[in-house]
Order: sequence, then structure tokens, then C-alpha cells
Amino acid sequence: MKKTVILVLVAVLGLVITLVASLLGCASAPIRQVYVVPETNATADWRKIRSGASQVTFKTLMTGVVTVPVSGMLNLDNPKTKSYLQGKIASGGDLVKSVDVEVYAHWIRHPEKGDIFIDSGLDARFRDTARGSLKGLISRWIVEGSVQLANQDILSQIEENDINVKMVFLTHVHGDHSSGLPVLPLGIPVVLGKNASLHQYPLIMYNDHFDNVAVLQTLDFDGPSVVNVEPLGKMIDLLGDGSLWAISTPGHTNGHISYLVNSTEGWVLLTGDASHTRWGFENNVIPGWSEDEGKARKSLKALRAFSMENNDVRVVFGHES
Ligand SMILES: [Zn+2]
Repeated sequence: MKKTVILVLVAVLGLVITLVASLLGCASAPIRQVYVVPETNATADWRKIRSGASQVTFKTLMTGVVTVPVSGMLNLDNPKTKSYLQGKIASGGDLVKSVDVEVYAHWIRHPEKGDIFIDSGLDARFRDTARGSLKGLISRWIVEGSVQLANQDILSQIEENDINVKMVFLTHVHGDHSSGLPVLPLGIPVVLGKNASLHQYPLIMYNDHFDNVAVLQTLDFDGPSVVNVEPLGKMIDLLGDGSLWAISTPGHTNGHISYLVNSTEGWVLLTGDASHTRWGFENNVIPGWSEDEGKARKSLKALRAFSMENNDVRVVFGHES
């Protein structure tokens, strides 16, 4: 009898600890190490980079659609945004407050390094629930809902395309960009900006995306491997052969990174959430969600200048391709 009582008490205690830990979004934070940049002949001359770079295959995998506030995508203080939204009156006569946007993982296949992802897309938890793995009191105001079709989740697409993910580079760590991490192979390098926050706020907004990530590798844009490529600014030749570049584009978040890929079908600029949408990019309107508006403006300006000078480079936005 006494033994049974002790067993029950232990079970209850375990349950309470599990509940509290999940409520607090507890998991030990991954340790951070600097990403070791392979030896490179990186030059700061874009024309030389462009002509000398190796090529990789590139495909954007669309993993679902999330409904988010327009105020997060576009800076509402910008007069251009105001007049744009006035032309988009919702059915009840009110201004449109929400927008549906796509969520991606970008897949690169490198001849020697294998399969690499930029961002991780959404896992299958977004199929049946409004916010998938995104938890916390305010998450409903960040992601209002989601739609994911059968086999659209990242793991289904990995299996369908026979992808063997060796490494993931993140643009930043808002939950819609890290949601696929839990289904990627354990122990693969996960790389992000040096000062990027994991945005885990117990009870308020949190997720389990990094629970099984022991080590994060960080990109240091003040390190020795950085080249200053005008007009983009600080860049890192990630694989050493010019095929994949990280571009420092802080503002939307601290440590935000955009990427430039030399695909077999031409160069592709991945803005990440430096610009969530084509409209924002074309109209020079920064994201509503900007941790530092001044830096966000500077980053968007650099990306736009590069795009204007190189109009054959395809631009893929954070949530629109
Ligand atoms: Zn974001």
C-alpha cells in the first residue's frame, strides 16, 4: 500500500514538472559556436563573384500558409501603406487587417556538400491546428491561423524529393522560419546570425523548435571572412566556392540574414523577412515588425539597390516567391 502511494506521488510530481516545463517553454538553450567559413578566394567585386561562382540546384518548398496581421508585414506609418490598404477594403467595409502568406524552406543541392536548407518550413502540426507548434498567450495575435494541405509539410516534401539535409541556415528565428527543425536529422549544423535571439518568452510566446538542437553555429559579420560587396554590404561566402552567400540585413530582427544563391537557373536573392512581400520591396516599405526601423530601412535599401542594378537576379521574398 505504502509503495503504491509513493509511486502515485512520483507519477503526479513528474506530471506537474512536465506541465510546468511545457508551460514555461523550458529546454536548455543550445550552446553557440562560430561557423567556420571554408577557405575562400572571396572578392568584394560583385562582377568577379558573379562570373566565378560555382552553381547549385535550388528549389523553394512551400510548406503551408499562415494568416498574420498586415501590421506585422508592412509598416502602417508609411503613407504608401495607408493608401495601399485603402484600396483593399474587406467585405464588412473595414480595412483589411490580416493577410495570408506562404511559408518556405529553400532547398539547395550542392555537388559536394549535399542538401542544404535555408529556413525550415512548417512541420505537419500546422495541418490540424491553427498555430501548430507555436505556443503562448500572444501567439494567436502573431499567427492567427494556418492552412496546410496533405503532404505539404516539410517532412513529406523531404521524403518525396529524397532530400538528405546536411545543414540548415536560418534567416532569423521567428517561429514560422524554425518550425521545421524538429523533423530534420538530429545533430546537423543549424546556423544563424551571431546576435540572433531564439525569441523564447515563457508563457508569452515559445515553441519546441530548438529542444533537440545542442549546438548553434553563428555567423559573425565582424569576423575575418567578411567581404564588403557594394551595394549589399557585409557578406560571407558560406561554402567557399561562391555558390551561397550570407548577407547581413539586420532590422526586422537583430542578426537577420538574407542569402544569395548561384542556382543552375541563375542567381536568386532570398530577402528573408527583410521584406516579407513583393509589394513591400517594390514600394520600399519596411516590415511592421521591425526591431530596429533604422537598420531595417538600411537593409531594405541595400537589397533594393542590388536588385535594381541586377534585374536578372530573381528575388524571393520572406513570404512571397
Ligand atoms: Zn520574421
